[in-house]
Amino acid sequence: MRNLTQTDTPTLHDAARIARLMTAWHKKHARDLPWRQAGAPGHRDAYQTLVSEFMLQQTQVDRVVPLYHAFLARFPTISALAASDQQQVLALWSGLGYYRRAIHLHKAAIAILEQFSGAIPHSHKDLLSLPGVGQYTAAAIACLAHNSRDPIIDGNVTRVALRILSCDQPPQLSLTKAAVTDFVSSIMLSARDPAMVGEGFMELGAVICTPKAPSCHACPLADSCSAHGQGLVDQIPKPNIKPAKRNLYCDSLIIKDAADAILIEQRPDSGLWANLWQTPTIERSDQHAARQELADLFDSCPVSVSRCSLAKFEHQTTHRRVFFRVFTSNLPRSIDPESLLGTGPVTRRWIDPLEIDTVGISNAQRRIICILGHNAARSLS
Ligand code: SF4
Repeated sequence: MRNLTQTDTPTLHDAARIARLMTAWHKKHARDLPWRQAGAPGHRDAYQTLVSEFMLQQTQVDRVVPLYHAFLARFPTISALAASDQQQVLALWSGLGYYRRAIHLHKAAIAILEQFSGAIPHSHKDLLSLPGVGQYTAAAIACLAHNSRDPIIDGNVTRVALRILSCDQPPQLSLTKAAVTDFVSSIMLSARDPAMVGEGFMELGAVICTPKAPSCHACPLADSCSAHGQGLVDQIPKPNIKPAKRNLYCDSLIIKDAADAILIEQRPDSGLWANLWQTPTIERSDQHAARQELADLFDSCPVSVSRCSLAKFEHQTTHRRVFFRVFTSNLPRSIDPESLLGTGPVTRRWIDPLEIDTVGISNAQRRIICILGHNAARSLS
């Protein structure tokens, strides 16, 4: 094994050979994914590429497919997306996680309409100016929709490159990233069909050069792969050092009115689950809140909180372990449900639980609504 330097680019001959092998393999073995039906790599519909690349950031393909269809059916064009309300976009994103992507995608559609007359930019630089578009997404759109030679570098491509180069430097080091970019760029520059090669590298990393037990026997690049030749595949890449997850303690309160509608409130427009809706919830970083604090959320109304929690569960996000307790409250007939909406900075509304899919809601809060559906009627009676 060795460290990488920026001189670790393949010779022109090797780069052209790798590009040819990659092209031939991808033409034969590419999975038939919905967004690939919108044209060949390099000539793909730019709007569908934009949507799919936002959805695929940090999310598995099989989770994206059904939501991708629903999203395009509701927002078939960039104009339809830009003209929509942010909550409609968040509602369709429910279940996919990383909701900031939905907010950014909506803002990017507006920016494309206002700054680029509705045409998705071609250049990497213009694409980078859009909300939520980083190096990877800009390169993917430029390459797959406009056949540019921008190197598309995601985690899969990085793994393939590091194994071919037999490099065990941590992938997150900027020196490693620069060297991987140079390596992939040199192959893209030698390619006759750069988009086929760019997408092929991602595909190879997703289905053949997998993190564990890669299928080297089926790999078109096995002859060029230094880690494979030296028997070092399972040692590369070095795992990233992940920071420990922080704990978050959430107490949520289910309040139903006489017609079985539930009270929900909108979260702030920044931070975790930004702009999504939830049952009234108190968050603490050190411990759960006191029951009385839940009641005090409605300072002008005498809301009583159940003595025991209806449910407890743990929910994991990328950076946090979130511990939920779910309480219920009976709403005395003397209280006007409208009075719980309040006049403060928090926006609240009543909603029929069967219509919860019309607003953006996190998976954790969806679970709370499900608890309500199965158990809460008994506890609230
Ligand atoms: S030979 Fe194995 S380790 Fe090397 S690129 Fe192919 S699948 Fe990955």
